[in-house]
Amino acid sequence: MLMSATDYRESLRRLTPRVFVDGRTVASVADDPTLLPGVNAVALSYDFALREDTSTLMRVAAADGSGRDYNRMLHVPQNTDELLQKLEAVRLICRYTGCAQRYLGGDAMAGILQAAAEIDAEHGGEYLQRAQAWYQHIRDADLAVGIAMTDAKGDRSKRPHAQDNPDTYVHIVERRADGIVISGTKAIVTGAPYMHELLVMPGRAMTAADADFAVCCAVPIDVEGLTLVARPAGRPGEAAALFSNRFGQSTAVCLFDKVFVPWERVFLAGEWRHSATLTYAYATHHRHTCIAARAGYGDLLIGAGTLMTEANGLDTDRAHGLREAMTDLI
Ligand SMILES: Cc1cc2nc3c(=O)[nH]c(=O)nc-3n(C[C@H](O)[C@H](O)[C@H](O)COP(=O)(O)OP(=O)(O)OC[C@H]3O[C@@H](n4cnc5c(N)ncnc54)[C@H](O)[C@@H]3O)c2cc1C
Repeated sequence: MLMSATDYRESLRRLTPRVFVDGRTVASVADDPTLLPGVNAVALSYDFALREDTSTLMRVAAADGSGRDYNRMLHVPQNTDELLQKLEAVRLICRYTGCAQRYLGGDAMAGILQAAAEIDAEHGGEYLQRAQAWYQHIRDADLAVGIAMTDAKGDRSKRPHAQDNPDTYVHIVERRADGIVISGTKAIVTGAPYMHELLVMPGRAMTAADADFAVCCAVPIDVEGLTLVARPAGRPGEAAALFSNRFGQSTAVCLFDKVFVPWERVFLAGEWRHSATLTYAYATHHRHTCIAARAGYGDLLIGAGTLMTEANGLDTDRAHGLREAMTDLI
């Protein structure tokens, strides 16, 4: 069922992630002033799916004819029209908020479903089935999903297995009958504190020696053993920052300390040859979406430039320097 912005904030209040901002523990992500601009930005993707004038773009009807609608931010485009509709929807949200944030979930699912089919074809496993079930889960519950792909990386000249500290990359530390246990560090994860779940993905090609680092799985944001060290979203509380005190983006370092993940949420566990496929498939979908994100952000800058010009009583027909700058922006 589609959530409203209010439902989204309430859903965050029911979660208990371990979050630090500026060295301080955050008691309630939805109510902490430092994260509010980020929560506002994601909330807009929920409201736009319910608003009459934007819902056509922001919703996708379920393919099974059930009459259900899903948020386009979680949808994997099925044809060229849907690819274009994704771009329009992302541009619209970025025009208002600067960054749509929630669109990463759809891009990651596109990459994972594509790669899972390829991995299963080679290994005869059930990754595709699991990925499809989880995809259904996030769309049915209308979740916000963060993507934890960028590892902390440590010494950039060394591969993951050769790092002095193995926790510079997320990796499998234990394999159990019921799932895997992972440890390590992902960095710069957009919106992490105010997401419902995180998708852990490998961020590079791996070698046989790196097999334990070839891991892709989904975890609830308040799973035991996960700590998020986050930046404030935007410039909260700054009176002069009229835009950035309303909308912004937090990024977080995500520290996994022996986090258990049941098999049904595991989409890659050691098949190192496919790590590159997964990384590349997601990055390709995401680069496509980013075209629209930059266009929306550009719209925002052009609007701000026009507003500043007008507020200063200037006319771009006469102020040629300004006219050139505005043309550059456009
Ligand atoms: C606003 C923002 C939001 C982001 N959101 C997310 C997100 O939601 N999820 C996520 O997973 N990531 C996210 N990222 C991370 C982004 O994808 C990474 O910044 C990117 O992958 C680069 O990784 P890095 O920062 O570790 O840089 P590095 O890998 O350290 O690279 C820095 C520079 O060094 C060079 N370099 C690296 N290694 C070597 C080497 N061995 N030899 C020579 N040169 C080298 C690189 O080419 C590059 O020019 C975000 C980043 C930003 C800025």
